[in-house]
Parts: sequence; C-alpha cells; structure tokens
Amino acid sequence: MLLIEWHLLYICIPILIDMTFEATPAFAAQLDSTDPLKAYRQHFHIPEHEGKPVAYFCGNSLGLQPKQAAEYMQEELNDWATMGVEGHFRAKRPWFSYHHLFTDRLAAVVGALPTEVVAMNQLTVNLHLLMLSFYRPTATRYKIIMEAGAFPSDQYAIASQAMLHGFDPNTAIIEIAPREGSYTIAHEDILQAIADAGDTLALVLFGGVNYYTGQLFDMAGITAAAHAVGAYCGFDLAHAAGNASLSLHNWGVDFACWCSYKYLNAGPGAVGGAYIHEKHATNPHLFRLTGWWGNDETTRFAMKKQFIVQQSAGGWQMSNAPVMNMVALHASLNIFAECGMPALAAKRTLMNQYIDFLFSQLNNKPFEIITPTASHQRGCQLSLLFNENGKKIFEQLTQKGIIADWREPNVIRIAPVPLYNTYTDIYTFYAYISEFGLSEL
Ligand SMILES: *Cc1c(COP(=O)(O)O)cnc(C)c1O
Repeated sequence: MLLIEWHLLYICIPILIDMTFEATPAFAAQLDSTDPLKAYRQHFHIPEHEGKPVAYFCGNSLGLQPKQAAEYMQEELNDWATMGVEGHFRAKRPWFSYHHLFTDRLAAVVGALPTEVVAMNQLTVNLHLLMLSFYRPTATRYKIIMEAGAFPSDQYAIASQAMLHGFDPNTAIIEIAPREGSYTIAHEDILQAIADAGDTLALVLFGGVNYYTGQLFDMAGITAAAHAVGAYCGFDLAHAAGNASLSLHNWGVDFACWCSYKYLNAGPGAVGGAYIHEKHATNPHLFRLTGWWGNDETTRFAMKKQFIVQQSAGGWQMSNAPVMNMVALHASLNIFAECGMPALAAKRTLMNQYIDFLFSQLNNKPFEIITPTASHQRGCQLSLLFNENGKKIFEQLTQKGIIADWREPNVIRIAPVPLYNTYTDIYTFYAYISEFGLSEL
C-alpha cells in the first residue's frame, strides 16, 4: 500500500534549531541562499512588476503557473490534432484513464490511499456530491455542524442540502463561532457542540483551514468527536490541500474535497479533488449520484443498463475527465512529488518563524494578526486585521509589486508559499509595512 506516513517522517526532520534572525535584507538573502527548496522556484512563472518579479503572496487564492504546464498542454493539443478520437486510448497519456495520473501523487499530498482520492469536477460541485452520500438525514438525526464564517460557497451549499431534505437551514445547521473577543474558534467549543448535538447530529463539515483567519483546525480531534456521537465528518480542504500536513486516512476522516487552483497551482477553475475513506469508497451500497465514469472500468464501454460501481473514490465520478483542465495539475504534482510534504512543512515552519520575528520588530503595528501563532494551528497563510487605512495600504502594496489579497471588511491576507516564495519576499513585505507604520497617512 502506498500510504505515506507523513507524521512519522516529521520525526526524521531535524528539529529546526532556534535561529537568531535579523531584520535585514542581507539576512533574508542568506536564508534564501541556504534554502534546500530554492530550486523549485525556477519551476514556476513569477509575474513581474516594472521588470522585476513581484513578491507574490496570493498562492492561497491562485497558485502560480508551473512552467511544465505549457508543454503538457501542447502535447494534448498535438495528440488531439493528430489522432482525433483515438487519443482516448493512443495519446501519450490516454484520455480514457487520464485521471489515474493523479491518484498516487494526490494521495501523498492529502495523506490517503491512492484508491481514496480522485481528481474530478470542482470544489463546490464535489461538496454537493459528497453530501448526497454523507448527509442522509432522518427525522431525528439531521443536524450539521460547521464553522461560523465559512467561505460563502460552503454556506450556500450546506444550506441548500438541508433544504433538499426538507429541513430549515436555521434549525438544521449549527455554526460554531469564536468566543467574544477572539477571532478564532476554540477547539473545545467544537468538541462541546458536537457532544451537545449528540444523536441529533448527522454531519460535521468543517474547513481544514479557515479562508479568512488562516486557522488550521484539529481535524483528527474533530473527526473522533463526530464519530463518537455517530455522525459523519468531512472537510473542505480548499486552503489546506498542498498547504497543511494532512493524514486523512489515519485520522479516519470520512470524506473531503478541495480545489486545485490555490496551493496546488493547477490554474484558474482547474479540476478539483475528492477523498473518500476506504471503508466507504469500497461500499457499493453507499448512495451516490452515478454516471458512466463511476462505472467499473472493464465494463464501462459495454454500455449495459446495469451500473457496476467502481470500488474506489473513482466510483463518485460522473463524467469523463476534463483533460485540458487537468494538465497543469499534472505539472504541479510532479513538483510536489519530488519535493515531498515533509520538506514543504519544514520550510513553512521556518518562514513562519521568520515572519513572526520580523513582525515582533515592528513598533506601532498598523494591524493585528488574527491567525493563531501556534504552528499546529496555522498553515502558511497569515491574516492581518487593519484598524484603519488598511485598504490604502493594500493598494499601495500592489503598486509596489507586493501582491497580497484584500478581504472585506479590513483584512490583508499574505501566504508565503514554500514552493516558490523567498525569505526576501517576506522581508520586502515587512520593510514596506515598517516604513508605513512610521510615515504619515
Ligand atoms: C476557494 C474556495 C471555494 C471555491 O469553490 P469553487 O467551487 O472552486 O468555485 C469554496 N470553498 C472554500 C472554503 C474555498 O476556499
């Protein structure tokens, strides 16, 4: 079995020695020159501003383009041009089985067995499809627990699923909010709400990392609590896949889905991904919406009336693979496979330590950091809550070639991505903010 036990590998990574950092461009450059992952930046196109690469902090929103994507796209166009329909079986990477290209590498990214993952559809579509299997409410067990302030698409999807089954979202959905005066959700509050809901609870559906605050949730703990009251547990990994260290299989997570255009660098609107735990993926009786691509591959083209389910996550596919929308994911996963999640985690930790250090050097910070500082509660995104002038600072950052993102009402998010960001990028952001703190607005 190709299950990689990432958490065991961590033990092998030398604990990062408590470094003495310096708030100087020379020190940042030194961190860059000794960075074991520095070569990976060369595999991406970095957008430019006035002839120089920008400091790109939006990998949490749209990851950068892997250079190899263009080559792969051209190969598919060539195979289509020269073979037409025969490309389904004769293309260099046959379209009939194109989605199989991803299973091993995606499984490694999310900590799953290859049979538990599939690249298909897009995120919100997958959320719906998986809820159709894992939200099967009864008159007494129908509640859903989710985080307050979840990404709007998730809120809409979950509410409409409650309505689909004839429930009022206001009574069926329990939202867990941060305590008064806090921006992030206390783990104990999640566990308590699950225990309180008890046998009325059908499903816990949480983000892995909250898109607004950057809080990384304890997915193993939430899953165990959901199972203890007989509920299913799923995660939206939009901001976690390719960012946080995940062990979905070992945590016993029932299902998860994600988009591939954020940390997975597969391009705007790229194919999404889904995970279904082996114990469910091999259960042919679990309800799902079906289509020919979920049919057993050996009989798919028999075109028979009877649906024979594939006993893997692939059994949730409905349509044939959108090949043109998958080529960049293929290019990007090559890079992930070569680098490996533990190495990414190590660089993410060091980058986070460097940011924390730099921000500790600021007098009169014009913002408050709302992302938890503990490393087990954050990925690489940092959310900065500005009191005033936030929008103006954001616009001026953009004009300086520092690409962050703005979330209403007053948050700037920055995500230094270990695959392609540099310590100099981080220093550049700090230097600009520190000047700003001093200058008058
Ligand atoms: C980015 C994001 C989405 C986007 O959904 P699509 O279906 O890919 O358009 C949904 N949910 C979360 C939590 C996200 O971060």
